[in-house]
Amino acid sequence: MLWPLIKGSASRWAQSHKCARLVRRASSSAQAGRTAAGGSGSDPGQGADESVTGMFHHILGQNPELKDIVETLEKYIPFIAILLVKLFFDHSAGIVTFICLLTTFTHANSVVKQQVAQQGRKNKLALLAVLVNLVACIGFIYYMFQDEKLYNCAIFLPPSKIESFYDLFWFVGVNDFILKFVSVIFKVGLLLLPNTAVPYQKRGKYFLFIERTSQIHRELAPIHIWLLFLLNGYERIPGKVLGVIMVAVYMVAKGKLLLKSARCWKQAIHKILQSKSYGKNPNPDEIKASGGSCPICYEDYRLPTLLHCKHIFCEECLATWFDREKTCPLCRAQVTEDPEWRDGSTSHFVQLF
Ligand SMILES: [Zn+2]
Ligand SMILES: [Zn+2]
Repeated sequence: MLWPLIKGSASRWAQSHKCARLVRRASSSAQAGRTAAGGSGSDPGQGADESVTGMFHHILGQNPELKDIVETLEKYIPFIAILLVKLFFDHSAGIVTFICLLTTFTHANSVVKQQVAQQGRKNKLALLAVLVNLVACIGFIYYMFQDEKLYNCAIFLPPSKIESFYDLFWFVGVNDFILKFVSVIFKVGLLLLPNTAVPYQKRGKYFLFIERTSQIHRELAPIHIWLLFLLNGYERIPGKVLGVIMVAVYMVAKGKLLLKSARCWKQAIHKILQSKSYGKNPNPDEIKASGGSCPICYEDYRLPTLLHCKHIFCEECLATWFDREKTCPLCRAQVTEDPEWRDGSTSHFVQLF
């Protein structure tokens, strides 16, 4: 709204200062000459600052309405600052909890991703430490806030009270982090299984399934909390009608997102059921022509697989590669679809609605 006002004033200011700028440019080149000859020039940053401040004052001088708005804002600033300080102080427990949850999640997520990439050389101690940390964190949160019945949110039961925006975002946000922790715990459990139980090349699709299941759970979990918030506190007819309309709009918007997630979940189940091979077995001549060793691990082929682009790799090396990439490691021909969530990572998105 203010932009046309400022733009118009700026162009008028530029017009009136065109001549002055030409004069300044001439004098600054003269000054540059003097500086090169050994003299000390003034700070160019300071000049720019003065120019911006001058332009700002000029714009304010030209527009009394704009000046009034700026002066009013200046009056409000200290009071807004006081309110912000009070808000931060009153909700400091909540803010600190969110920071701790975010830090714990980011750390656990990066450790799991690293360890998935390590395959047989994974560090079991690091994984156990993440497991203990996440379980302890969930236990601590549920214990600290047991009066609020936070644990109910994960199983679609109502928490203690939802009276304000803060309650809504608190319950939905904390619950989302806890559900993320649960999905990371499942992924760590899968990682800790021996290769004989679940081979490394098949783990990608299980990680995808765990993540998609967790995502759909996290999308469903806030619904009842939102409905309680939207319908709560209306005793009379107009309020009740408004509540019902808001619930209807929420459900329509949410339904679209849920349908999309349900489709992704179905695809993840299909991938678990089908046993996928990225190529076929090469014949001895093709192995010999390729040089006899795998271009990923530089060792003799273990279960060699020939891709459609005629490049050969170990089956295990390919499985690990295609958990992160979708093209041939040598020629970049597309072999598979998007490898999203197959590397053991968990979505950072905080499901607040
Ligand atoms: Zn290999
Ligand atoms: Zn290739």
